[in-house]
Amino acid sequence: MQHPKVAMKALFITAPQKWEILEVPTPEITQAEVLLRVGFVGLCGTDLELLNGKHPYFSTNNASFPMQIGHEMSGTIVQSMNPALPVGTQVIMDPIVGCGDCEGCKNRATWCQERVEIGVRSGGPGALAEFVKVPVGNVYPIPQGVSLRDATLTEPAVTAINGVSRIQATGGRALVVGDGTIGIIAAQVLAHRGWKVQVAVLNEVSAERVRSLGFEPVMPHQMESISVNVVVEAAGTNRSIQSTFKAVSAGGEVVLLGVPDKPMEGFDIADLVLREISIYGVLNGPGLYNEALELIAKGVIQSSKIIDQVFDFTQFGDAIKLLANPDRKLPKILIGM
Ligand SMILES: [Zn+2]
Ligand SMILES: [Zn+2]
Repeated sequence: MQHPKVAMKALFITAPQKWEILEVPTPEITQAEVLLRVGFVGLCGTDLELLNGKHPYFSTNNASFPMQIGHEMSGTIVQSMNPALPVGTQVIMDPIVGCGDCEGCKNRATWCQERVEIGVRSGGPGALAEFVKVPVGNVYPIPQGVSLRDATLTEPAVTAINGVSRIQATGGRALVVGDGTIGIIAAQVLAHRGWKVQVAVLNEVSAERVRSLGFEPVMPHQMESISVNVVVEAAGTNRSIQSTFKAVSAGGEVVLLGVPDKPMEGFDIADLVLREISIYGVLNGPGLYNEALELIAKGVIQSSKIIDQVFDFTQFGDAIKLLANPDRKLPKILIGM
């Protein structure tokens, strides 16, 4: 088997807010892995937190510089020893790789203390590179009719689908807090399942965007008076989480998808107990990758209303600048490799 290229370019975060594109050896694979030529990489809030050195994984020693980020990706298999995954297959990656051996892994790789999250946790080199190696169990072929570009939405989509699937109530009104990629996908999945969806936004630009998606926006001043049975929190800021718990009614359910970068002060647990609020913390969505790809193929998850711009690898700085700008037109920023 010939190796596609001996050296490759990869982006390394070397210190908070500093990065370099370096020439490094192309990863060598084992029988249990495939090598992918990276097609597109999606950037999200996790990447910003990693870039700024503020992700919670730094404080638990699960992340350190230099690191290779990029966890939402699509690509093409260029090297494989697995007949079920031949060279040329277009795939997406589930970045979470459990140790395969512990109590957590018996249920979900996300519960594994030793897990690698490719591009995020415990040194798994990420996809902001020409090539990335991935365990065979972590790649999923992209169905007919879904482009490499649109398929990058699969990873954020599984988180949204997992969150929505936790809800015990069977319908009615749901509020999604945050109109980033995961928030919008959660809203689209909820609507597909028959919920009447409102989306909490911060400003008129976001409100307009949410309206164009067919959802009713809720402005900050309206949050005081809102009361719903189900709230999906997908912004992960102190303020958005406070308003989430204010908005949920007694006996209601809260799905937490956003990951705040620090512990929250002044959180009123007594209020949650006395009002019998159920809370679901959600990390990724193991086992939901094929369902996510299907929802993209069916147009339930509409990429044209999520993906804003595709930047070149060398324009990482511009991509990050736009990602950090809350006034961008659409939430998702991609890097095309
Ligand atoms: Zn992400
Ligand atoms: Zn494990």
